[in-house]
Amino acid sequence: MAAQDHYKVLGVERKASQDEIKKAYRKLARKYHPDKNPGDAKAEERFKQISTAHDVLGDADKRKEYDRALANPFSQTGRGGTGQPGFDTGGFGDILSDLFGQARGRAGGGSGRTRAERGRDLEAEVSIGFEQAIGGAQIPISVPTYERCPTCAGTGAKPGTSPIVCPRCNGRGIESEGQGLFSISQPCSLCHGAGTIIEDPCPTCDGEGRKRTVKRYRVNVPAGVREGSRIRLAGKGEPGRNGGADGDLFVVTHVQDSPVFARKGDNVEVEVPLTLPEALRGGEIEVPTLNGRKTLRVPPGTRPGSVQRLRGEGPKRLGKTGHGDIHYRFTLDLPDKLNAEQEAAVDDLAKVFNGNPRSKLFAS
Ligand SMILES: [Zn+2]
Ligand SMILES: [Zn+2]
Repeated sequence: MAAQDHYKVLGVERKASQDEIKKAYRKLARKYHPDKNPGDAKAEERFKQISTAHDVLGDADKRKEYDRALANPFSQTGRGGTGQPGFDTGGFGDILSDLFGQARGRAGGGSGRTRAERGRDLEAEVSIGFEQAIGGAQIPISVPTYERCPTCAGTGAKPGTSPIVCPRCNGRGIESEGQGLFSISQPCSLCHGAGTIIEDPCPTCDGEGRKRTVKRYRVNVPAGVREGSRIRLAGKGEPGRNGGADGDLFVVTHVQDSPVFARKGDNVEVEVPLTLPEALRGGEIEVPTLNGRKTLRVPPGTRPGSVQRLRGEGPKRLGKTGHGDIHYRFTLDLPDKLNAEQEAAVDDLAKVFNGNPRSKLFAS
C-alpha cells in the first residue's frame, strides 16, 4: 500500500495550524462517518484515511516526525512502525467493526454510550475567630461552581439527540500507541476521554452539559481546627458528567490570632508575666484557660522562660482523641523605671543578695 499524504487527505496545507487540522478532520469525519454512509465501502475507506491522517497530524510530535519523513523519504527505511506514516489496517478494521456494532446498538434504542467523568474538586476559604476554631462553628459559605444543565440533563446534546461514539477512540476514551507490552495509552485527543462527541450541542449550555452557578452551604467547622485545616465536604464539588460522581469541596480555615493564646500544634501557649517577688517566692496565681480560669502553683525561684503545662486543657486534637495541653511560659514583669519606694526596696534587696553570680565566668 502506498503511503497516503495526510495533508492531501485532510485537504489542508503543510503549514496548517493544529486548529485548522482539527477543523478539517471534524468536517470530513462527519461527512464520511460510517453512521451516515451505511454500506458504502468507498466512504468507509475514506473515513479510515481521514482518521489516520488526523492520528498523525493532530498530534504535534507525530506530525513533526511525519514532516521529517516527508522531507527525507529514504531516512525511514529499516525503522519500526512507530515513525512510519501509515496505519495498521488490521487495527482499523477492528475499530470500524466495533463502531458499526455500537452504532447499531445505539440505533436499537440505547441511550447512547457515555463515559462517566468525576466532577472536579473545589476549594473554598473561611475566616473564623480563635474561639470558633477552639469550639467549632457553623459558617455560611458561597462557592462558585457548576450545576447540571437542566435543558440537556448534563449530556450536552440538544434535546432529542444523543452524543455519538467518538470515532477516534471508538468510545474507549483512550488512545494507544505502539503494541503489546510497550503500548502507551493516553486520553483521546478528540473526545478528551469522554468516549463520545456531541454533534448537535445543547443551546442552553453550548454542549458543556453544565452552567455556572453559586452554591451556598453552612459548613460545620469542627472544634480544634487551626490555620490551614482542610475540611472535606464529600460530593459538594463540581457535578460529575455522564453519571460520574460529584467532586468534593475542601474548605480551608483561616483562624484569627488570639491576643492571649498562641496555637502550637495540638497545644496552645500563654505568656504569663510574674512580678519579681512572685518569681522569687513562688505562690498561687490565676491563669486563663480556653473556657475559664485556673489556679497555678508557681514554685519559688521560677525563672523567665520556664514552662508549666496543664495537660488536656488545650484544644481538641483534630483526627485524634482527647485534647492538647496549655503551656504557660513565664516572663518577668520588670518596670522600666522605679519609684522612690521601689528604689528603697531594691536597695534593701541588694544588701542581702550581695554575692557575685558572674564570678565563675572568670574562674581561670
Ligand atoms: Zn445543556
Ligand atoms: Zn475519543
